Amino acid sequence: EAMYRAKRSGGRQFQFYRTQLTEELTREQRLRNDLPSALEKGEIQVWYQPFVKASNQCITGAEALIRWQHPDFGLLLPGDFLPQAEKAGLLPRIAQEVIRVSIAELKTWITLNPDLTLSINLSAQDCLSPGVILSALETALIEHHISAHHVEIELTESSLIRPEADYVIHELHRFGVRLAIDDFGTGYASLEYLSRFPVQKIKIDRSFVKHLPDDPYHQKLVPAMVTMAHSLELDVTAEGIETFDQEQFMQEIQCDYLQGYRYGRPMQSTDFVKMIQTYLPKS
Ligand code: C2E
Ligand code: MG
Ligand code: MG
Ligand code: MG
Repeated sequence: EAMYRAKRSGGRQFQFYRTQLTEELTREQRLRNDLPSALEKGEIQVWYQPFVKASNQCITGAEALIRWQHPDFGLLLPGDFLPQAEKAGLLPRIAQEVIRVSIAELKTWITLNPDLTLSINLSAQDCLSPGVILSALETALIEHHISAHHVEIELTESSLIRPEADYVIHELHRFGVRLAIDDFGTGYASLEYLSRFPVQKIKIDRSFVKHLPDDPYHQKLVPAMVTMAHSLELDVTAEGIETFDQEQFMQEIQCDYLQGYRYGRPMQSTDFVKMIQTYLPKS
């Protein structure tokens, strides 16, 4: 495409596009090359975003979200480097690290509040290495004496419908880990998978929530999603809650859990622990 535009607009433009293209390639290549050693050097961090019970806004757990503290590029978000990691086939190795680190943190949380849950995102590529994932989970849970029901795995619809997901999902279920469908409503999967897999929760994607409470279409669609989930005995989390009005809307339609900047941005584990301590349930 760059070449095509260059031809139309002459030599100088060509130079410009070529430079831009080269820079992007080197950044991509560098990220891909740096990743394996970043894991060794501890540059890969796990941050945590709280989720709360909708009825009383008590913290019920947090989702592990990966970050890369890169020496030259600064703090990188998953969108900046997970595509590179995927191309390099490194996602299972990364998942291993996220599982190891976050379950160690979960131990601290549970001692403060025994009802907390940790949510971990897995990718389609992770499902291709079920042995790596399952043994990482088992090792970490045994090491910290944590029961599997404290852990929830988030998979998107597009990962779920791949044939290789079947095995790992059923093994996770057998193991006692809970399963949530992430970004619910944005994939191309048929709803049939809700009956085919041992799913306990759906997470309504932020792209639906962001139109609330004003947009008339979403005012109808989102409650219908919640009703459908409840009639299948599934729990519902709404992602991306930012405003009081959104919170109130989701409360009124009996959504079970809420997550979003309103309750906290992704944060380091020390900050999440402070947050748990501040909001400990009164006994
Ligand atoms: P996700 O699992 O759907 O996570 C929610 C994303 O929305 C997070 O972005 C979070 O910071 C952001 N978010 C949460 N609340 C709000 C809000 O109120 N407003 C707005 N504007 N954004 C909000 P993040 O951390 O950049 O992660 C993006 C995606 O990267 C995640 O989407 C997940 O699919 C993937 N990801 C993150 N960590 C991991 C991981 O350890 N493994 C894998 N395989 N994927 C991961
Ligand atoms: Mg998620
Ligand atoms: Mg999500
Ligand atoms: Mg989402």
